[in-house]
Amino acid sequence: MTETITHDVIIVGAGLAGSWAAMVASREGVTNIGVLSKVYPLRSHSGAAQGGIAGALNNIRSVDGKLESVPVGESGDDSIESHMFDTIKGSDWLGDQDSIEVMVNDAPGIIYEYERMGCVFSRLEDGRIAQRRFGGHSSPRANYAADWTGHVLLHTIHEQALRHGVRFYSEWQMMELIIEDGVCRGVVAMDILTGELHVMRAKAVMFATGGYGRVYQITSNATANTGDGVAIAYNAGVPLLDMEFVQFHPTGIYKHGILMSEACRGEGGYLLNANGERFMENYAPDKMELAPRDLVSRSEQTEINEGRGIGDDKQGIYLDLRHLGAERIMERLPQVREIAMSFLGVDIIDEPAPIQPTAHYSMGGIPTDVNGQVVIDADNTPLHGFFAAGECAAVSVHGANRLGTNSLLEASVFGRRAGYAIAEFIKGGAKLHPYSGDGVSRQRERLDNFMSKSRQNGNGRGQPEQVAAIAAELKQNMTDNCGIYRTEEKLLIAREKVRELRERFKRVVVMDSSQRFNTELLTAVETEHLLTFSEVIIEGALNRTESRGAHFRTDYPKRNDEQWMKHTLAQNTPEGVALSYKPVHIFWDRYPPQERKY
Ligand SMILES: Cc1cc2nc3c(=O)[nH]c(=O)nc-3n(C[C@H](O)[C@H](O)[C@H](O)COP(=O)(O)OP(=O)(O)OC[C@H]3O[C@@H](n4cnc5c(N)ncnc54)[C@H](O)[C@@H]3O)c2cc1C
Repeated sequence: MTETITHDVIIVGAGLAGSWAAMVASREGVTNIGVLSKVYPLRSHSGAAQGGIAGALNNIRSVDGKLESVPVGESGDDSIESHMFDTIKGSDWLGDQDSIEVMVNDAPGIIYEYERMGCVFSRLEDGRIAQRRFGGHSSPRANYAADWTGHVLLHTIHEQALRHGVRFYSEWQMMELIIEDGVCRGVVAMDILTGELHVMRAKAVMFATGGYGRVYQITSNATANTGDGVAIAYNAGVPLLDMEFVQFHPTGIYKHGILMSEACRGEGGYLLNANGERFMENYAPDKMELAPRDLVSRSEQTEINEGRGIGDDKQGIYLDLRHLGAERIMERLPQVREIAMSFLGVDIIDEPAPIQPTAHYSMGGIPTDVNGQVVIDADNTPLHGFFAAGECAAVSVHGANRLGTNSLLEASVFGRRAGYAIAEFIKGGAKLHPYSGDGVSRQRERLDNFMSKSRQNGNGRGQPEQVAAIAAELKQNMTDNCGIYRTEEKLLIAREKVRELRERFKRVVVMDSSQRFNTELLTAVETEHLLTFSEVIIEGALNRTESRGAHFRTDYPKRNDEQWMKHTLAQNTPEGVALSYKPVHIFWDRYPPQERKY
């Protein structure tokens, strides 16, 4: 039966960002918090992260290219300042420097907080947290737990949230965000087990719904990463920031996209083309395989496009780890080895692994300030009662390209900060605003439409369509026409195709009419979300006539600061996507723009 559920705070998403916010707000005295997750909370994508979480702890230093632990009492080479500069440079000067400063300053503290909560980091012999190298970072500052980092972080924070009395709604899918008169009042959600829809009212709502890599054919993202929060916020009138910036990770498993962590290269892995050449020499002679992801992915794609790829379709590259030796691989990369064995039948101890670039991370999302408060325009006007953090948000610390290990950090730091801000908001006397709207019936109608008999009979509007076919065509379209290398010509094709698919989507029919666990129905809902924001990605990419970070236009191959050192804001209007722009926060005296070379 449909019922109205009331909480002080509703958080959608149980990954690191949502769990941190819930735990902290609860610890600060907010007792009535509900966290929704459409998958079992510990299956949130944060748990799939392998490589590490950044933080300048200075436990390890590099001497003549070799890593050694810094003797206690001596200082290492790393600093918060250096983490900050690396992140700004990685972002290709599109990251907001005030946000980046907050993140890198909070980093060591949050890693020690994880440690105090019992997180099982890998250790140095003297017991300090072990650190490894990662792309684009000038010192070894990835703190890790073998290649299970996200898993151990998520378990640690989830346990703490339970301990503090947070209520989890496991396998509940949020369907709609309720905003009336500029005030956020709750969400409409489905209990997937029963299929029933409920209004969930709250004084504060936070989105921590993760990324949207699933809009691409080859992706490292979990099937749940369909950008629901981003699409739902956009439909509710919240603008989206910098959606054209989508990161491709250089080492997804060939033909599958499943991630082989950057830790593989952090530990010393090589990339080889079909001629056995370490081609990174030609693209980033200094950093080689440890250049940032946008650069390495583009280098791989160039090798592939010029005919030096491997595999039956020549779309692959080799990742060679053999020289690391069995002992190091077993100690540092056990999960990667298992994944390669399961999906490729390759033991990385004896053979190189075929890989290819894979859609990995969404830099753009719901704009927020450094306390998770959602802001809706270039003047940073807050939206009352609505918060967001983690991959669905854009604060923006990653700008045009994220450095590896900065995302677990971002989700943790800004999830925690949102938790404090939400607690303050509630304790400061936030109200439960009335809601008498028809969100539930609107969503019921939307779902019933997919399953209606008249649609199955063509509805007088043409042949019924299958969700799976539309999703597959969309993903192929995004990969082919809005991927690593973009041109105006291709982007126009991409836009036409999405428009065609949106029309066809109106005739989609869901054959499964069951109430309980109707995954076909939920896939239809998610596919509608993919269609919604893919148009935003394309529109932003078409307009941005320059190349910056992960957005590379072969017809405009240079970064153009004069015209384009600004964030894109995309607003949903009856006429379609409306773009406007917002200045980047730069500390001109400290980190003025430079050419980005590695
Ligand atoms: C394979 C892989 C490896 C990675 N490795 C690293 C790494 O080593 N270091 C690093 O820094 N970063 C890494 N990343 C990136 C990083 O893991 C993510 O960006 C980060 O964990 C995102 O956290 P989050 O809390 O924002 O979202 P997630 O952890 O993705 O959680 C999203 C939550 O939202 C819920 N949700 C979504 N939609 C709905 C809905 N409609 N209704 C209800 N619930 C919903 C989901 O159920 C889930 O609980 C990796 C990413 C991948 C894919």
